[in-house]
Amino acid sequence: MRGLVYHGPGDVRVEQIPVPEPAPGEVLLDVSAAGICGTDRHIVAGELGVAPGTVPGHEISGVVVGLGGGVEGWEIGSRVLSYGQVTCGECRPCREGHEHRCRRPQVMGMSRQGGFAEKIAVPQQCLVRVPDAVSDGVAAIVPDAIATPYHALVTVGRIGMGESVVVIGAGGLGLQAIALARMEGAARVVAVDPSPVAREAALGAGADAVLDPAADEDAAKALYQLTSGATLALECVGRADSVELGMQSLVPGGSLIVVGVGHERPRLPPLIRFVAAEISVSGSFGSTIAEIETVLELIAGGRLDVSRSISRSVTLDQVPGVFAEPATPGRTVIVPQS
Ligand SMILES: [Zn+2]
Ligand SMILES: [Zn+2]
Repeated sequence: MRGLVYHGPGDVRVEQIPVPEPAPGEVLLDVSAAGICGTDRHIVAGELGVAPGTVPGHEISGVVVGLGGGVEGWEIGSRVLSYGQVTCGECRPCREGHEHRCRRPQVMGMSRQGGFAEKIAVPQQCLVRVPDAVSDGVAAIVPDAIATPYHALVTVGRIGMGESVVVIGAGGLGLQAIALARMEGAARVVAVDPSPVAREAALGAGADAVLDPAADEDAAKALYQLTSGATLALECVGRADSVELGMQSLVPGGSLIVVGVGHERPRLPPLIRFVAAEISVSGSFGSTIAEIETVLELIAGGRLDVSRSISRSVTLDQVPGVFAEPATPGRTVIVPQS
């Protein structure tokens, strides 16, 4: 079969590689679609220490075409998506239903072979059935691009009707967060992004207003005016200055949820203000399989419109070229069988 193999920083090639043999408890999938996200760019740039020989790709939908020993509940022909990591099932978070916090996960496309290939072997506990009304491309990106902001806004942020929401960073996650906030009945949604293309996309996804943080001398003041003070802010960038901007945007009692990942260290406001305002700041990481199932139902039932989230589909042969270019807004999805 053909697959995209990482050989070293900036070096990915489409090659003939062996078809994986599903181990006991695993199924073999024909990959229908695989999403390319920012993490894959970091992998290909050599920033995440992934071993040469690895096939990247952790956003996968497919059709079951082979069954390893002991597989139950899945048949040849089942349309599925795969959770992006293989969790241990034994650590405390796994046992308590927080498998996204697993302490010993294997990540598809990083510490085990991923989905930028015609086929992939996946443990059965990673599989989620895809409703007929959800396309292969959308199914592939649900766990990462859509269920991640769902977990952040709904489970961690407990978003309610009438909230004033700020979304900082209108990339893949941020655009979905805007659509989700609208679906959950937010009264006002304001997006912050320095890119004019991203700000335009944010308005298309349902933001009431957008802010270029670089254009305004006092971005925090401008943001507070646009939102009348946010009750909920979501940081999707992973930078200290945007975490600090998120805290500054909040009314007393408001919450900042951080999904952006990075090495910077943001500062709290002076404690006299932080304590008196009773703002809270939480991290939010990934999503559970149950949340992925909920998001699939929301899409299949027409409550959540994600039709704009996929900007283009490419063949395997086009993927090295995709990594050679700068990222574009929205998800690029690989269709390996094309
Ligand atoms: Zn991803
Ligand atoms: Zn675990």
